[in-house]
Amino acid sequence: MRLISKVQELEGVYSFVFQPDEKIIWTPGQYMHYTLEHPQTDTRGNERWFTISTAPYEKNIMITTRMAAKGGSSFKDALLNLQIGDEIDSNGPKGQFIIKEGDYNHILIAGGIGVTPYRSMMLQLNRDGKNLPIDLFYANRNEELVFSKVFSELESDLSNFTLKRFVGDNRIEKSDFVPYLGKTNSLFYISGPKAMVETYQRLLESLKVAEEQILTDYFPGYGA
Ligand SMILES: Cc1cc2nc3c(=O)[nH]c(=O)nc-3n(C[C@H](O)[C@H](O)[C@H](O)COP(=O)(O)OP(=O)(O)OC[C@H]3O[C@@H](n4cnc5c(N)ncnc54)[C@H](O)[C@@H]3O)c2cc1C
Repeated sequence: MRLISKVQELEGVYSFVFQPDEKIIWTPGQYMHYTLEHPQTDTRGNERWFTISTAPYEKNIMITTRMAAKGGSSFKDALLNLQIGDEIDSNGPKGQFIIKEGDYNHILIAGGIGVTPYRSMMLQLNRDGKNLPIDLFYANRNEELVFSKVFSELESDLSNFTLKRFVGDNRIEKSDFVPYLGKTNSLFYISGPKAMVETYQRLLESLKVAEEQILTDYFPGYGA
């Protein structure tokens, strides 16, 4: 794939848009595997996984990632240093973290940069005129939410979509899940750093949510 644009979303958060050299067909929520050869590769290596943050109708493949304030990898440095026209090797798409068809209430839970699959899902649903009942619980360390504008616009377009922001110490709590409990058509999706995903998975299980009602997608390599 060839880099066609690089956008700073927020401080330390960048999106990279690549044009594939052959058509890639994906379902929102899927990810790709990338290899980026670069000099002075650190022990973390030259391969990573990234969710496709673009919706299929947008055609190109976008990666959205957070750069570490310190101790960042050589891979991320190399990604940030890519120039328009530079290439990256990729394969995929892969993954089952996708919106399930059927009569469900969808509860999307995001921790920080874990919001990437939801941009793709929500934009494609809007494009397809599918106004599904969806609540996005978006937890972030500060008010600077990635794709905040996109989700606010989607809230105006889709009457059944609600964005619930959880900032700083205002964590997602047990009580926030109460309206969805005891219903077999509630589907919970959890995406974010591994520790966060495991915490909410355990919490939902302790609230007697069945295993098949919980879908997870965790991002290794980030702290909790
Ligand atoms: C299916 C899947 C989808 C994913 N999608 C996304 C996505 O959409 N966006 C995204 O940003 N990430 C995504 N990830 C995670 C991504 O692949 C990287 O693991 C993650 O971005 C961390 O990148 P990095 O290892 O280059 O570390 P950096 O981002 O450079 O650093 C992360 C932090 O962890 C510390 N750290 C981590 N590992 C080490 C180590 N071995 N040694 C020293 N310090 C370390 C760093 O010091 C820093 O504080 C996804 C992962 C998977 C499996």
